Amino acid sequence: MNSCVVIIGCGALGSAQAESFARAGIGKLRIVDRDFVEFSNLQRQTLFTESDAADRLPKAIAAAHHLQERNSEIEIEPEIVDANHSNIERLVSSCDLVMDGTDNFATRYLINDACVKHRIKWIYGAAVGSYGVTMTVRPGATACLRCIFPEPPAAASAPTCDTAGVIMPVISVVAAVQVAEALKILTANEDDLHQGLMQFDVWRNEWRRISVGSPAVNCPTCARREFASLDAGSQDFAAVLCGRQAIQVSPSQPTQINLTSLGARLAAAGEVKVNDYLLRFRTGEFEMTIFKDARSIIRGTDDVTTARSLYARFVGN
Ligand SMILES: [Zn+2]
Repeated sequence: MNSCVVIIGCGALGSAQAESFARAGIGKLRIVDRDFVEFSNLQRQTLFTESDAADRLPKAIAAAHHLQERNSEIEIEPEIVDANHSNIERLVSSCDLVMDGTDNFATRYLINDACVKHRIKWIYGAAVGSYGVTMTVRPGATACLRCIFPEPPAAASAPTCDTAGVIMPVISVVAAVQVAEALKILTANEDDLHQGLMQFDVWRNEWRRISVGSPAVNCPTCARREFASLDAGSQDFAAVLCGRQAIQVSPSQPTQINLTSLGARLAAAGEVKVNDYLLRFRTGEFEMTIFKDARSIIRGTDDVTTARSLYARFVGN
């Protein structure tokens, strides 16, 4: 009850983690997610319902609502943001543990940097197809993500949610192991941690544990305390989203916009719908979802240049 857990990414893994933590009575859950609920999520993202998708609710908001129904005595802090170098240290601050619910390596290195820098434990988890993997990182005591994977996998070298999909049972397995590890940490039973890189393939029936040792002596993050992901001054502000034909474009500077007045301007150019959290704008074959922090998720293209140009035309810089 006195613990605080941050969940970065409330998709399939994040949904499963959050529900377990809420029912276990973790006192405070901070749910960080940049996206909104879609019908195609419902096959594996167990917190959400058809009405969340119909209402286009941000996942952080829908999750907070459903978690509070499961346990009204805990505190839920929804954050509708894209976790990036400018906010990750704030997002993980003053909490006991960080859970990986993301779907990409860039955000995992970001979490790793922030957690090693501030000596916060975090639990890596990933799943694609029928395969899943998890590892518990205790800065200073165990290897970190960069000790084990010095570089992210090369583009197009690994299957992604786009090419392979993901099935629910492997999500349940990875999330279950992540949450069990979390409960051991939060109850000060660290001797019982699995201390490995755990890999599961629920289709090929392979379960493996590779022992993970101490921090690598040459790790730039653990040993030299260089935090490349946090220091990224000029980042690419467009990102391809996994699993669908969509691109996220972020403003170059942090800002807040008024969705109602933007909606009034855009109404001349296409169909506009606004709710408390986001604006939906359809123009031609494209659909733009614009959040209050001026981020936009642009559907109907997987081309970053096209997405940037739509953003410049309709939102500005
Ligand atoms: Zn390391």
